[in-house]
Amino acid sequence: MGETAEQARNEEVTMEEIVALCKRRGFIFPSSEIYGGLGSTYDYGHYGVLLKNNVKAEWWRAMVGDRDDIVALDSAILQHPRVWEASGHLEGFTDPLVDCRTCKLRFRADKLEDAQCGQKPSKHPGEGPDCDLTDPRQFNLMFETHVGPVAGEGSEVYLRPETAQGIFINFKNVLQFARRKPPFGIAQVGKSFRNEITPGNFIFRTREFEQMEMEFFVPPDEADEWYQRWIEERRRWYEELGIRPDFLRVRPHDADELSHYSSATSDVEYLFPIGWSELEGIANRGDFDLTQHARFSGEKLEYFDQQTKERYVPHVIEPAAGADRATLAFLVDSYDAEEVEGRQRTVLRLHPRLAPVKVAVLPLVSKEGMPEKAREVYESLRRRLPAEFDEGGSIGKRYRRQDEIGTPWGVTVDGQTMEDDTVTLRDRDSLEQVRVPIEGLGEELAGRLEQPWRTPKLG
Ligand code: ATP
Repeated sequence: MGETAEQARNEEVTMEEIVALCKRRGFIFPSSEIYGGLGSTYDYGHYGVLLKNNVKAEWWRAMVGDRDDIVALDSAILQHPRVWEASGHLEGFTDPLVDCRTCKLRFRADKLEDAQCGQKPSKHPGEGPDCDLTDPRQFNLMFETHVGPVAGEGSEVYLRPETAQGIFINFKNVLQFARRKPPFGIAQVGKSFRNEITPGNFIFRTREFEQMEMEFFVPPDEADEWYQRWIEERRRWYEELGIRPDFLRVRPHDADELSHYSSATSDVEYLFPIGWSELEGIANRGDFDLTQHARFSGEKLEYFDQQTKERYVPHVIEPAAGADRATLAFLVDSYDAEEVEGRQRTVLRLHPRLAPVKVAVLPLVSKEGMPEKAREVYESLRRRLPAEFDEGGSIGKRYRRQDEIGTPWGVTVDGQTMEDDTVTLRDRDSLEQVRVPIEGLGEELAGRLEQPWRTPKLG
């Protein structure tokens, strides 16, 4: 099975095609481009913002909208430096780094087989004839900066390398004000920063990225059960949003891979064009974080059950996902190229709820009152769902433009519309066109948007 999925992956789309589509259609641009770019940082354009917002909205829906045992949080990026001492990041959030004295490049010592020798790209660092690597030294991935006007002793702070710690340090606040009893969760979405030694593969690994993390606090004896439940929940989330099951797998970590805080971790992996890679990690963190923060802060971070008079430090199950990585996976998995009536069309078969634009309204031609009528239809639709009006170029060209950004429905105003107030409604995937009245069109589309959806790629 693995081999067939991998073969299919290679034939379907390359990372270069995804990068090109993102640039061409204004989803994602290399950052600081007019200054020559800054390696591995990206800016999201209009459709990219809408798509990533939809990914995050679906995550919030799954965490907070569809259940009542998780609350939301938005903690600060800058936190007290002791947070990172307690969490173990100051000491242990490091990668081993080697320098090559010959080519002056730097590599991750544990990933030399993924890198190319600076002088002989067919070889890995250390294998080239003149490679002269230093011994590995540990490099902390946290970005350091200063608060206040004077840089120096005591003013150092770090840009958070994960959103999770912001949740643990608010455990007491949430317990008090949200009146929660384990099992309950705290969810957060926000930027994190890691000074990655070898970022790359487009938005897969960048130094500034967005995480979607949830810490689920449970009675200790329920931890194993919740760990399994969250692995399944999270896999289901990707599948319901259209990722094909053959391109998704859950990989439990080996004992030697586990982080210092974790008794068990599983990664949800996606078969990216670069191979199977982590989309999200689900970890059983035990009581490590609350215990550490209690020790370092002197605050009690535990749960006291008034009824049973029981006192305990909850254990934590953490599903930690990346919003940019998930966005990349949805782009890759939805990408399709096919020939229709002798012409090539590229189409993003995105789940309608993820699609940046839900409906495009197009006048068939730019005359005979059609643009005005189409604009009227557009004005009424856009109040209900993200819509776009497009009157530039041939109708075929406009449809292809919408296909490329994944717009699931196209509404065309034509000669007949002017007579009977009906339009054609075109489906992105089946290309079926049906005649529907303008009245009720908004409800019809809003209804379709809430339907369960299955990618047509599954046949
Ligand atoms: P990796 O092994 O790929 O470095 P990780 O195990 O260090 O990832 P976590 O600390 O578990 O990652 O972070 C949770 C999620 O945050 C990851 O599954 C990924 O989706 C996302 N993420 C982590 N680092 C980056 C990055 N540099 N760029 C983009 N997304 C990232």
